[in-house]
Amino acid sequence: MILPKSHRLTAEQVAEITQIVAEFGCKIQPIVGAVRTIYAIVGDERDELMINRLEGLAYVERIDRIQSPFKLMDKRSDLASHRMGVGGVTLGEELLVIAGQCTIDPKNPNYFYETAEAVKEAGAQALRGGVWKPRTNPYAFQGDAKSLDILMEAHRRTGLPVDAEVMDESHVRLALDAGVHMLQVGARNALNYSLLRAIGRAVAERDTVVLLKRGLHMGSLSEFISAAEYIVSFGNPNVILCPRGTSPALDGYRNHPDESITPLLKEKTWAPVVVDPSHSVGKAAYVPACALAAVAYGADGLCIEAHVEPAKGLGDDPKQALAPGALADTIAQARQMWALRHPIKTA
Ligand code: PEP
Ligand code: MN
Repeated sequence: MILPKSHRLTAEQVAEITQIVAEFGCKIQPIVGAVRTIYAIVGDERDELMINRLEGLAYVERIDRIQSPFKLMDKRSDLASHRMGVGGVTLGEELLVIAGQCTIDPKNPNYFYETAEAVKEAGAQALRGGVWKPRTNPYAFQGDAKSLDILMEAHRRTGLPVDAEVMDESHVRLALDAGVHMLQVGARNALNYSLLRAIGRAVAERDTVVLLKRGLHMGSLSEFISAAEYIVSFGNPNVILCPRGTSPALDGYRNHPDESITPLLKEKTWAPVVVDPSHSVGKAAYVPACALAAVAYGADGLCIEAHVEPAKGLGDDPKQALAPGALADTIAQARQMWALRHPIKTA
């Protein structure tokens, strides 16, 4: 990884480093951070001669040779100073709450509009809504592209940025063209490397945020962080890690709650962690405790399923969506927990 002395290199300087690394079979990938652009060397970057030649360039501050399977996501990476914003919240400075329906009902858009207003009122800063749904049962409602219009209309009405899951490249294109602010990679696609690459390519030149769920089946933390590296390696560092419980489930819960991995993730990576308590425990009654536990463990945010009338919802909503009152209480308590974890420092 090449760290320049300036905020970014000129076109001539990029051409020069590109030519040098090409002699060693490598390529250059700029990664645009909030503070400065860094230049990842793609390929085997261990050649001492190549490193020496790059280090000799007047405009290069240093070459970082982090030995990590996820060198961009690694806590020691220069990207550790990168800050990302969602709905006016800078991750890490204030608790981010994303809330909304599991599934948008294209036949009853008013439920979604009412949910959108209610989650805003409850204090959420971003709105989630499932357009395309990954369903275990192939005969269950699979979502509908028409719901994309409903999602964007809810954004216009509330001003909240919107999050939707994408399951293939065609969804990525449709969602980005419609103006979706946050692309969600679901637990079933968390290790779908061709989808991760396609998302990385599609968001490379944008400020879109990607919410990457942890894979359905319990895998290592390195596997989770490396999946994020796939996206970031194309140039957009706005990836959030989202633990959402793993399988096999803890008896009685939908999954095995895994908000407790948050401090472990934070030891390894600079990426923000937004926990999804809804899919973790899978029942509305258990969601508030899981949400508070996530914040106690150091999560930067929560992604909560909520519905103005859960019983009338589709997908997961009848079981696990919080009604507006419960959502408002959960958010208020989560903010108190956040305040305990982040006491205001007086000089
Ligand atoms: C969802 O967010 O509604 C969803 C399907 O989540 P997951 O991919 O975590 O199961
Ligand atoms: Mn769901």
